[in-house]
Amino acid sequence: MGTGVLEPLWTLLFPPRCPACGCYVEARGGWCPACLRAALRVRRLVLTPAQRGALAAGWTLGVYEGALRDLVRGLKYQGRTEHLYAIDTFLRAAAPMLCRLLQEDGGARQLGARFDAAAAVPLHASREQQRGFNQTERIFAAWLAGEGLSLERLLVRVKETRPQYGLSREERARNLEGAFAPAAGAAIRGRRILLLDDIFTTGTTALHCAEVLRGAGAAQVAVLTLASGQNR
Ligand SMILES: [Zn+2]
Repeated sequence: MGTGVLEPLWTLLFPPRCPACGCYVEARGGWCPACLRAALRVRRLVLTPAQRGALAAGWTLGVYEGALRDLVRGLKYQGRTEHLYAIDTFLRAAAPMLCRLLQEDGGARQLGARFDAAAAVPLHASREQQRGFNQTERIFAAWLAGEGLSLERLLVRVKETRPQYGLSREERARNLEGAFAPAAGAAIRGRRILLLDDIFTTGTTALHCAEVLRGAGAAQVAVLTLASGQNR
């Protein structure tokens, strides 16, 4: 990201537009208010009893459709890192609503006070090399730093897995069996960990990661995703 001294020229050549409706906006990464409102849906995730065994709580910030889905897909599958500007704007707009939810759930309303570390769901090394980055880390890194929470590599994906979409819940679980492990030397024991992912669908991935973290002695694990297809 960042075009440095070329920024004014860049803006002149490519005037920033809302990622949803395409109307002109003031700054790069900006959304028009109506589209931002439509994409934001900060809410608690619905967890199954099995998921509640490993996950203390779950929150998501947006609706996985329209502009937000296009931004994430472009980032993941086409390497469109310029989408991070609009995603960061989205996160900053969601933050006050997330604070309110955290407060309602009891305890500190700041992520940095509530958790000791954040960790993204890891990609397999070969996938990460191919993509050039872990999209979840790129999505959350800048915003989390402002929230006073450090992003750490606590997990590794030790098994190459098939994409989860299109699989039944049972197939998803089998696909991820033994897929994750604690990263070498990761500080997990006794810590409260916020697990991050781009999308929450059935929660199978979050459950498997949370179980590995709890197995390695994490005091508590909760999950936060950018968006979810879960609608209530
Ligand atoms: Zn718009």
